[in-house]
Amino acid sequence: MSFSLLPERKFEDVTRITPEILRAAGVELLILDVDNTIAPYGTETLEKPVTDWAESLKRAGVTLFIVSNNKGARPEIFASLLDIPYIKRAGKPSPRGVRQALARTGVAPSRAALAGDQIYTDTVAANLAGVHMLLVEPIRFTNPFLAVRYFFELPFRREKRKKRSA
Ligand SMILES: [Mg+2]
Repeated sequence: MSFSLLPERKFEDVTRITPEILRAAGVELLILDVDNTIAPYGTETLEKPVTDWAESLKRAGVTLFIVSNNKGARPEIFASLLDIPYIKRAGKPSPRGVRQALARTGVAPSRAALAGDQIYTDTVAANLAGVHMLLVEPIRFTNPFLAVRYFFELPFRREKRKKRSA
């Protein structure tokens, strides 16, 4: 257990983390960051490649668990879409949320990994909790299509928000 900014491995996106890679590392619990790891900021849906990927991991016997710093509804929305447990307001880089996920699943740190896009929050939290850190490129940079779509969706997102708060 140490304070470190170094991830163990880097991936282009979260779906590149295969059951085989996790099995080789002895990982049975994969803790997921939300923002820019499984979905871009602000969105409330998951792309099909991500849901297919999550299903394939579950089929391979990997336990998935969302640990997000997000304070809003999205951690719960994504957790229910994937039918997995979640912790929000995790306060990463504090290892608190990661440790809670370990406690709730009964998995040892050495058998767990965190997949996230941030060095200063995800990587530090993972290293402090003693779990493997799998760093992914933030979605907004790797998927220009999503960025463009998100831009064009903005007026409608604002509209949706207005309606909700009305
Ligand atoms: Mg993130």
